[in-house]
Amino acid sequence: MNQTSIPLAGVIGMPIAHSRSPALHSFWLKRAGIRGHYVPLEIAQADLEQVIRALPKMGFVGVNVTIPHKEKVLALADVVTDRAALIGAANTLIFRGDGKVHADNTDGYGFIENLRHGAPEWDPASGPAAVFGAGGAARAVLASLLDVGVPEIRLSNRTKARADALRAEFGTRVRVFDWVQAGNMIDQAALVVNASSLGMEGKPDLRVPLDGLTSHTVVTDLVYTPLETALLKHARAVGCTTVDGLGMLIYQAAPAFERWFGHRPDIDEETRRVVLGT
Ligand code: NAP
Repeated sequence: MNQTSIPLAGVIGMPIAHSRSPALHSFWLKRAGIRGHYVPLEIAQADLEQVIRALPKMGFVGVNVTIPHKEKVLALADVVTDRAALIGAANTLIFRGDGKVHADNTDGYGFIENLRHGAPEWDPASGPAAVFGAGGAARAVLASLLDVGVPEIRLSNRTKARADALRAEFGTRVRVFDWVQAGNMIDQAALVVNASSLGMEGKPDLRVPLDGLTSHTVVTDLVYTPLETALLKHARAVGCTTVDGLGMLIYQAAPAFERWFGHRPDIDEETRRVVLGT
């Protein structure tokens, strides 16, 4: 980027109209007084490589990547961070001055930062984590929980083979439970995570027995539409500390913004309101 150019960034995906990232980054740009733009880019699979090669020539300093391109971009990048390789997907591309495409994944970072802020009392080493779901988001959750020293991860997924595959990849600290017995994972768990899409608007709620929850359990849901899922509502009634999924979305965005625009954005209530569109 030369001194006079206006830095551009965006999010590539298909579909993309629902993404809250443009609202978030545009707000941070404005608040920091940076003359840049962040735009949604609807890109078909077949055009992905061509688009990634063209964007740096058009003034883009980087892009976020979302469904369905998160895995495919790894093969198109020149440099892949260890955490993106471990997760098997990238959510952030940085177009470097030397022409190289750098792929990173900040989802795990966003997940942990959100927990640290929302449940400061949570000590990763204090006990097992119970995780529902074994899709792309669960991969980032597992990688980051293992990284911060959670001693055991209990994992359950409707399609058990996907959970078994994660265990094979992430190792023996991961224990797989049958979906019909998923409620058993909660007993003595320090942390409960919904990383499935259950509970999202238009989807059924996560219906597992939650009798094992105590007021000492920290419960977080990656789903943020609605902000308070049935799981979080139940957990709050039990007296658990609950952490909604909106913060993960915001915290994963901050390091990308800093890399592209050279400014670390503040995260506060106003930021949450902007993302919610309220
Ligand atoms: P994904 O790869 O499509 O995985 C979906 C997961 O949900 C799978 O484990 C799937 O189980 C499970 N699932 C879906 N419908 C189900 C049903 N009817 N019964 C039981 N399980 C069901 O999606 P993802 O990318 O991992 O995302 C998962 C959720 O996290 C989404 O709601 C997404 O919006 C949210 N998310 C939030 C953030 C954030 O920043 N807060 C970041 C990433 C994702 P099967 O394997 O059996 O299909």
